Amino acid sequence: MLFSDLSDRVIAVNDSFVRMVGFSREELMGNDSKLFTYHEDVGITEETLVRLSSEQIDQVRYIKRYLRKDGRIIVSEVSRSPARDSTGKILYFVSSERDITEERALAEQLSHQALHDSLTGLANRALFEDRLSQAHARIARQGGYGAVLLLDLDDFKGVNDAHGHLVGDQLLTGLARRFEFVTRMTDTLSRFGGDEFLYLAEGLVSPQEAEDVATRLIDVLAEPFSIHGLNLEQHASIGIVVFDGASEDSSELIQRADVALYEAKRQNRGRFSMFTPSMHQQAVSHFELVQELRRALQTGDLSMHYQPIVQLDNAHVVGFEALMRWQHPERGWVPPNSFIPLAEQSDLIMELGHFALTQAVHAASAWRATDKTDGVLPYVTVNLSVHQFHDPALLGMIENALASSGLAPERLIIEITESAMLVNVAETMNVMERIGALGIGFALDDFGTGYSSLSYLALLHPTIIKIDQSFVSPSKESPRNDTLLEAIVSLGHKLGMTMLAEGIETRAQLERLHKLGCEFGQGFLWSPAVANDKVDSMLKRGVRAKK
Ligand code: C2E
Ligand code: MG
Ligand code: MG
Repeated sequence: MLFSDLSDRVIAVNDSFVRMVGFSREELMGNDSKLFTYHEDVGITEETLVRLSSEQIDQVRYIKRYLRKDGRIIVSEVSRSPARDSTGKILYFVSSERDITEERALAEQLSHQALHDSLTGLANRALFEDRLSQAHARIARQGGYGAVLLLDLDDFKGVNDAHGHLVGDQLLTGLARRFEFVTRMTDTLSRFGGDEFLYLAEGLVSPQEAEDVATRLIDVLAEPFSIHGLNLEQHASIGIVVFDGASEDSSELIQRADVALYEAKRQNRGRFSMFTPSMHQQAVSHFELVQELRRALQTGDLSMHYQPIVQLDNAHVVGFEALMRWQHPERGWVPPNSFIPLAEQSDLIMELGHFALTQAVHAASAWRATDKTDGVLPYVTVNLSVHQFHDPALLGMIENALASSGLAPERLIIEITESAMLVNVAETMNVMERIGALGIGFALDDFGTGYSSLSYLALLHPTIIKIDQSFVSPSKESPRNDTLLEAIVSLGHKLGMTMLAEGIETRAQLERLHKLGCEFGQGFLWSPAVANDKVDSMLKRGVRAKK
């Protein structure tokens, strides 16, 4: 409480007020309130004095800053009233004060938190969207172009998994600082969540300028990040959408940048891509396909077929490759190459992978040995997507499938393409070792099509190398591939691996492979993949090469 006279001199204060402003009672008494008022707020006192003296008001409320004796600025919420005598003449003023400094700071902090990302301090999605709609309105008035760039890191998950979240967090912060460095004053950079960043460019004279922004953002990643003694490389893909005043609303713009990002990722890593309307069409039909694929998992339109794997010297069936088939109610048969890559863009691939594995091991557990298999139980090979490979639940899922089906682990072989293996060699080796420890075999699929690193080949040591069809089939046959085929088979053998040729279609191909010493093969020469109910008779009657 503060009592002051008509010239705003202190006539009485209580202990709380003394504590609040940090001056002693003696220092305060008789002094003008200017003594403890923050200089910018002196006017507030004068103004309220005028109002209280001239008008018939009983109370004024206002917020005012004080300067404490120790130099700290505090904020007070004041309620001030005049005390009058029986004639109505003002005798003095009574102020009730409340220190709201901390409340204020907290409120500011909260509003900052509500609009900023706590890890990097960048604008968050809410603030970005607000700035975007403002920019949109401005461009509609003044003309020109703006652009939204959605940036996504290509290998961030790998860093998190391999080095932990602390390193991951520091990497994100480091990235944010570098991006900030190339962010223009008029532009907005924000973290969109996870490893995604959004950049709003304003005042562009031409749409091409948006590509310059993308290049700047990608260029700052050229140098690796050094964190805790680690040298971490990061690449990013960027989806760009350019807009003018006539464009769609701002939420639509972010979605379009996302569509362009998808395209950038699909094309290549470490690139950017500009949104076009046809991309939108494609995204819509992809989206529909994924929805239908989800449904197909439930309705049974999805199934596994099995292609026999044949021992080349005696045509005995040693195993089957499980291949996914989708019988679409309207589109008919949809080949896996057109839906697996789509499913890989979302978690759906995990469900598909689970489906493929459980179906395959259950089917295989019922297969019988015959004299056409040399009395040996045939194995089943199952294709694994790279995303499954980085799924911590993978091993548990494989163990469960084996346990519930009763299939011996030696009868399961996991297939992975060589490009998938190279996404993260250290992690791949780790998972491979654990899968191998269960007694499960491992085949390197489509060998020769990826960026084969021969040193990794020796290190990863697959049980089987599946030579890609392009080295086998006549359509792409060339003397050069012939030489390569020979070299691949001999290299594999020297490393102690078993060679399997994919896509054998003619007897001539079979003979050549046989001569080279390739042990196994699969292909339309014997049979395409068939439904599981055909496998039994295939095992009883064996397979025969077509004429
Ligand atoms: P892949 O694993 O290399 O499978 C071999 C592909 O070659 C199969 O195509 C098979 O039907 C085809 N093929 C076999 N013999 C011949 C032949 O003599 N000539 C020709 N032209 N083709 C032959 P499909 O079934 O269309 O599968 C394509 C790819 O889709 C597979 O390549 C595999 O990468 C993927 N895929 C299939 N099923 C699954 C699955 O359950 N999970 C995962 N992650 N991927 C799968
Ligand atoms: Mg395969
Ligand atoms: Mg293959």
